Amino acid sequence: MGKRILILGAGFGGLAAANMLRKNLSAEHRVIVLDQKSWFMMGLVKLWILEGSRRLEESQTPLAGLNAKGIEYLNDEVTRIDTAAGIVEARNHGRIEYDYLIVALGAELVPDRIPEFVDNGHNLYDPIQVPKIRQRLLSMNGGKVAIAIMGMPYKCPPAPYEASIIISNIFAKSGASESAKIDVYCPAPVAMPVAGPQVSSVVVDTISKHGIRFNASHKLKSVSDRRLEFENGAVADYDLLIGIPPHRAPEVVRKCGLTAGADWVSIYKHTMRTAAKNVFAVGDVTEIKVGTLAMPKAGIFAEEQAKVVAQQIMDEIGAKPTAASFSGEGYCFMEVGDGQAGYLAADFYNQAGPVVRLDAPSKENYEKKQEFERTRIKEWLL
Ligand SMILES: Cc1cc2nc3c(=O)[nH]c(=O)nc-3n(C[C@H](O)[C@H](O)[C@H](O)COP(=O)(O)OP(=O)(O)OC[C@H]3O[C@@H](n4cnc5c(N)ncnc54)[C@H](O)[C@@H]3O)c2cc1C
Repeated sequence: MGKRILILGAGFGGLAAANMLRKNLSAEHRVIVLDQKSWFMMGLVKLWILEGSRRLEESQTPLAGLNAKGIEYLNDEVTRIDTAAGIVEARNHGRIEYDYLIVALGAELVPDRIPEFVDNGHNLYDPIQVPKIRQRLLSMNGGKVAIAIMGMPYKCPPAPYEASIIISNIFAKSGASESAKIDVYCPAPVAMPVAGPQVSSVVVDTISKHGIRFNASHKLKSVSDRRLEFENGAVADYDLLIGIPPHRAPEVVRKCGLTAGADWVSIYKHTMRTAAKNVFAVGDVTEIKVGTLAMPKAGIFAEEQAKVVAQQIMDEIGAKPTAASFSGEGYCFMEVGDGQAGYLAADFYNQAGPVVRLDAPSKENYEKKQEFERTRIKEWLL
């Protein structure tokens, strides 16, 4: 009897799982992917759009390409997940049954949690807003740019710092550097708590070489026209406010019981299984605690977790014992401008505690970052 594997979300995790399953399972087994979007774009491309080396329109790959690979793609919104009944409901396709469910719905951004941000600020993580941020930066003759990390955890911990360097380079090219000030406001006492104090201080040193100021323990409380108030009592003024909004699991996931009242789906850290039968969750929608901190939200982890889930499902269908296990290891590239990027390597399940290493920037790493995108788009969608 063919099995029906339903994957919610066609982001990093959903696409990696769907492709691996389809390549390895015979045609009697159905692989179905549901996503409300009709295209895929990696989060890291937003920084290239900010930098001006990419345009939004040329960076979105249609998800319809999945169908030619034998993966059934449904462009629809998931409205209900019922793990007890083994069904999912979608706005247009109605009730869909599954034998295995993979929840890869990512994180939802909540910019309106900070009063007046939506009216006064720009969301760095919204692909529609990034080209507008760039246009605004190009039209400025200096002034104060505030980059506020509005909550934790958020996707890709280095991204706000990469953005600050890109902005500083935009001002350097336009001749506005002299009269420009860039501040990064972070709610935590160090730049990237999950990477540890040492890597955090390298990050702060790197941005300070560009004249960018790092403001630790500054959690944004409210915004008014050109003025920021922080929970520590500090106030600051700005001409352009760029925010990384608070994140949370999507509503449909919070409502279905998989988060058990918490912010994120809790999973077994090696198998990505949830407490519900034959239901797995991967990527940003989940939380894996490592000591007092949670593993960062990054595509590379979503992808690796998805492969572990796919392997378990394939083994189970093939009635084979499985050795698939998520290692907690991952990497990413941190852009520092001038076509260079540093390399961050992490081992979060290391027995003596998480280890994160940041290698010096190089042009080679920048090229590897571009290759990172190219190879995945080709494998997953073309
Ligand atoms: C600026 C920036 C830079 C980044 N750089 C890197 C990097 O260099 N390396 C790296 O590894 N990661 C990076 N990331 C992080 C990475 O993009 C995310 O961690 C990754 O996308 C998570 O994958 P996911 O599959 O969990 O979720 P996503 O990729 O977010 O996919 C979730 C999918 O679910 C869909 N969805 C949600 N709700 C519903 C619903 N109700 N119905 C139907 N569909 C729904 C969404 O449309 C989406 O397509 C970056 C992120 C940003 C913002």
